[in-house]
Amino acid sequence: MKRLDGKTALITGAARGIGRAFAEAYIQEGARVAIADIDDSRAATTAAELGENALAVHLDVTDQASIEAGVAQTIAHFGQIDILINNAAIFTAAPIVDITREDYQRVFDINVSGTLFTLQAVARHMIDKGIKGRIINMASQAGRRGEPLVAVYCATKAAIISLTQSAGLNLIEHGINVNAISPGVVDGEHWDGVDTFFAKYENKSPGQKKAEVGAAVPFGRMGTAEDLTGMAVFLASDDAEYIVAQTYNVDGGNWMN
Ligand code: NAD
Repeated sequence: MKRLDGKTALITGAARGIGRAFAEAYIQEGARVAIADIDDSRAATTAAELGENALAVHLDVTDQASIEAGVAQTIAHFGQIDILINNAAIFTAAPIVDITREDYQRVFDINVSGTLFTLQAVARHMIDKGIKGRIINMASQAGRRGEPLVAVYCATKAAIISLTQSAGLNLIEHGINVNAISPGVVDGEHWDGVDTFFAKYENKSPGQKKAEVGAAVPFGRMGTAEDLTGMAVFLASDDAEYIVAQTYNVDGGNWMN
């Protein structure tokens, strides 16, 4: 018996990175997964690589009609949604004095509004069908503490930790558990666009930058997407039934460093 046998999950931002690793782990545990992403071609490739239990779904978390269409397509194909992972997010960095209103709004729209309104659409479906569902939000160590050049992203992730607490307390009366995972620094394509923001890495190769970032983690290296999949499977499994409104650090000890 696999831990997610017969379950259907919708994972936003699953075309690549951590979301893709979650999709792969869920399928290995017996689930069927909607690879819900704004990047249609990457989502199609990922779904094809993950096999018949994966479905590519167009879903832009900033667009209410797109959220509802993506949820409806997943239900039409798989019958229902038992698990949601609110994983889609973008990163931004700038000194406080250079933050623009446009960038602030864009990052809050994707990371915070996207999480809230996708959660809302899936929770409505779960309540309507009497599904004792699981919702997992993606926080970050950046939501636990300040970072000098990352104020907007940090604020979005702090908001997600707070939303997880309130939504968790609100939805448990329907048997829906809402929790969050808080990673530290996780290797992946996401970091390709990050390096340029940090002057101390300016003249270093991508390998050198990642090695330095990893050496500062108490565990001794950056995390991998696969380091997070165990927690994602656990929080969706029967073993996590009594866990409500929590945010779990899976970060090699980094956020306290
Ligand atoms: P990533 O940038 O590799 O992937 C993000 C995915 O989200 C992409 O497939 C992208 O197309 C999709 N996306 C972007 N905007 C979207 C939208 N409007 N609607 C739907 N999909 C959209 O990111 P990642 O590194 O795999 O991170 C995944 C999650 O983990 C994010 O919530 C991130 O904040 C969090 N996290 C990552 C790290 C890290 O170091 N990588 C650390 C802490 C937390």
